[in-house]
Amino acid sequence: MSSLKLSGIGKCFGDVVAASDVDLLVNNGEFCVLLGPSGCGKSTLLQIVAGLVPQDRGSVLIDGRSVDNKSPKERDVAMVFQSYALYPHMTVIENLGFALRMRGMRKNVIKERVTQTARILGIEPLLNQKPKHLSGGQRQRVAMGRALVRRPSIFLLDEPLSNLDAQLRMHVRMELKKLHQESEGTFIHVTHDQVEAMSLGDQVAVMKEGRIHQTGPPEEIYDRPADTFVATFVGSPVMNLFKGVLTGSRGEMVFRCRDFLMDMTHLPDEWKNREVEMGFRPEDAEMGTRVGPIIHAGVEMVSNVGAEKHIHARVGDSNMTLRTEKDALIQAGDNIGFSVRPSRLHVFCQGKRMEFHQDENGGFQ
Ligand code: ATP
Repeated sequence: MSSLKLSGIGKCFGDVVAASDVDLLVNNGEFCVLLGPSGCGKSTLLQIVAGLVPQDRGSVLIDGRSVDNKSPKERDVAMVFQSYALYPHMTVIENLGFALRMRGMRKNVIKERVTQTARILGIEPLLNQKPKHLSGGQRQRVAMGRALVRRPSIFLLDEPLSNLDAQLRMHVRMELKKLHQESEGTFIHVTHDQVEAMSLGDQVAVMKEGRIHQTGPPEEIYDRPADTFVATFVGSPVMNLFKGVLTGSRGEMVFRCRDFLMDMTHLPDEWKNREVEMGFRPEDAEMGTRVGPIIHAGVEMVSNVGAEKHIHARVGDSNMTLRTEKDALIQAGDNIGFSVRPSRLHVFCQGKRMEFHQDENGGFQ
C-alpha cells in the first residue's frame, strides 16, 4: 500500500473546468471517497491519478515521488469501473488471473493469489462459471477481484456500485469495507451517493465544479460543513438554511430573518450586523423540550419513512423539515413548537462557515 498526494491539480476540457487547484492527501491504507454531483470532475481526477488522462497543471505523487512522467502500468494502481468489463468468454478464475498471466507470473503464484482473492471476496464457488451466469453483485465482486489480485499500491474505484439495486448495493458496500480492512490497501472511491461516501470513507472529499470544498472524516463533514454547498449536499433531509442578519449587542445577539428570530447570544459581538445564513439539521429540532427559544410552525405535510417521520413545516414563507420519532402524533394542519440548541446551529457568511472559539474567560477569539 502507498500514500497519494495531489498537489495543485488543474484540468480543463475546452471551457469546462474538470479540476481546479486540487490538493488532496490520502495516507497509507486509508479509504478516501470523492463525493460530488454528476459532472463535478470526480472521474477525471481518478483518471489523472491512474495516468489515463494528463493533467494541465500540478503533480501526482505516490509515496512522495512524482509519477507525472510514468505510464499507467508503471504507476502500479488498479482501477475498478462502474461497468464490470469482464471477459465474457473466460471463466471467473481465468478473468481473475488474466492480468497476472499477461505479466508472465508463474502458474503457482497466480493460483495462490487467485485463490486468496476469491476467499476474501467469497466467490470461491463461482470460479468455474462464466460471467453470463453471474448476478450483477457477483460480477462486480469479480471485477474488484481482478483489481485486488494484482496487489496494486492504490485501488481506484469509479462508482463501482452504481449498477446494483438498492439492497445489493448495501450488501456489496459492506463487503467493500471488509475488503479494505482485510487487504489493508489504499482505496480511492468515487461516488455521488452521500450515504455511500459517509459509510465507506475514513476521509471524504466533497467536490463541486472541479474544486474540493472540504476534506475530512465523515463526522466532521456532517457536523461542521465548511460552506453552504457541503452543508446542503451532505445530509438527508437537507439542512434547513435561512438568510438573515445578526443584530443586537453582546449577550443579546439574535438572528433575524423574514419570518422568525433565533437567539444567538453565544456569538461574538464582532459578528453584529453581518448578513448570514443560519442553518440547523432536521434532527436538531427538539419538540417538547425547551433547549432554546421556541419557534412556532404550521405543519404542511408529514412523510412517514418507516423508522422516523419527516415533518414539513412553515413559518410565514420559510419552509423547514424536522425529523421526529415514528410514533410522534403530528399531522398536517397542526401547529408545533420546537427549539434548537445553540451549539447545533450553523452560521455561514458569504457561503463560508463562521467559526468561533470561546476562551477560558468566556471571551471570543
Ligand atoms: P459523473 O458522476 O457523471 O461520472 P464526474 O463527477 O465523474 O461525473 P467527470 O466525468 O470527471 O465528472 O467530468 C467532469 C466534466 O468534464 C464534465 O463536465 C464532463 O462533461 C467533462 N469531461 C470529462 N471528460 C471529458 C472529455 N474527454 N472531453 C470533454 N469533456 C470532458
